[in-house]
Amino acid sequence: MKISVIGCGYLGAVHAACMADFGHDVVGVDIDAGKVNKLAAGIPSFHEPGLEPLLRQGVERGSLRFTTDKTALAGARVHFIAVGTPQRGGSYAADMSYVWSAVDDIIANATPHPDGPIVVVGKSTVPVGTAGAIAERLAEAGVDAVVVWNPEFLREGYAVQDTQRPDRVVYGLPDDREHGEIGRAVVDEVYAPIIEAGIPRLLVNYPTAELVKVAANSFLATKISFINSMAELCDASGADVSRLAEAIGHDDRIGSKFLQAGIGFGGGCLPKDIRAFMARAGELGVDQSLTFLREVDSINMRRRDHAVELAAQMAGGRLVGVKVAVLGLTFKPDSDDVRDSPALDIAGRLWGRGANVVATDPAGADAVRLARPDLQIVDSADEALAGADLVMLLTAWKDYVELDPAHAKSLVSTPRIIDGRNVLDPRAWSDAGWDYRGMGRRSSS
Ligand code: NAD
Repeated sequence: MKISVIGCGYLGAVHAACMADFGHDVVGVDIDAGKVNKLAAGIPSFHEPGLEPLLRQGVERGSLRFTTDKTALAGARVHFIAVGTPQRGGSYAADMSYVWSAVDDIIANATPHPDGPIVVVGKSTVPVGTAGAIAERLAEAGVDAVVVWNPEFLREGYAVQDTQRPDRVVYGLPDDREHGEIGRAVVDEVYAPIIEAGIPRLLVNYPTAELVKVAANSFLATKISFINSMAELCDASGADVSRLAEAIGHDDRIGSKFLQAGIGFGGGCLPKDIRAFMARAGELGVDQSLTFLREVDSINMRRRDHAVELAAQMAGGRLVGVKVAVLGLTFKPDSDDVRDSPALDIAGRLWGRGANVVATDPAGADAVRLARPDLQIVDSADEALAGADLVMLLTAWKDYVELDPAHAKSLVSTPRIIDGRNVLDPRAWSDAGWDYRGMGRRSSS
């Protein structure tokens, strides 16, 4: 099937490559010429395991193209909307301007299809009510289209497998039966390998589909902030949050995933999605329903304050002139994404307090050099550790999790470490002579 993907960032580029791998004829359209040039040459424009071979194969086969030319939308039966919906400046709400400009591009460039209405599939995370508004706008412009809302649940670092073998797919369909059936059938055809694999597919109305995504993110954010609030209690009482999480996680009703205390969540999704959800609830007159998300957000932001204060405390009260080795800057491992990264935020705050920050990250260094040119970035953990007064592990990259405490000790000036992700073995580090501090964790457990 001939498909377009509008917006080729973390979501859209992976989606386009996976759809080409499913056997479709795909064009990815983005306004960023730099990104498009790389993708068109089969080179990922960001770090994502498994993406490069899919891109290369698709481009070499000729079934995957990337362009900034919006007229390339002509002829496609299906148009996926995968543009960004970042937090609007000075507000909690989502900036929807990219979505509306994508819709306008479809109106201006899509062409009628001989097999029936074109199908516009929304994948961006949007405020509830958007799908219906898009359908109206297309109808007013005289475009024969069916809108399907198909929220995306991929995790950066696992984006390819999450796109090709998701836990579930959700189709938000129009109330009109005939249009709903067309939308379902066409998206089923696009996702044939997913449907044939028996992956659960839920057919719901537009607002349910839109809410599923933000509800899922709100739940995950709440789970993380819950365990981080328990970490605060553990710090105050001498308990150990890792053992607590392990113990409660054995209960199937709770589950052990997303119960890792640390410096909190970040990235291009969870923080802005829960804020946009609160803003939308306010518009709908049900802001009280989501007041708990304010607390989730503030517990999360408090983790960053805590990490900076702990650093100051370990350094003897002041950070001025203290050499801090920061290991990890991206918001999570296996990604180069530094959007709202707690690690980068903490590194910047340490720098602001006068620390001599020397940071490193296996994939995020280039993005950081753009976002924070003031920070000193080095190429390896060994370089960062050399002569450090304090080490902070802030992103759980495998290389850092597997650091040898004896080797690390031989490099630093003073063996003090903050394990911001609770991924090191406290006993091994303490036994090696380190002053180890986790997040809500005892150094001897
Ligand atoms: P991103 O910023 O990496 O990518 C968005 C892309 O859209 C950019 O490359 C931008 O240049 C492009 N763009 C903007 N306006 C355009 C237009 N009119 N025409 C063509 N291209 C345009 O963002 P992302 O992380 O890929 O997220 C995209 C959406 O998917 C967001 O709504 C996000 O919340 C959602 N989402 C993201 C993830 C994730 O893990 N990144 C997961 C699920 C859902």
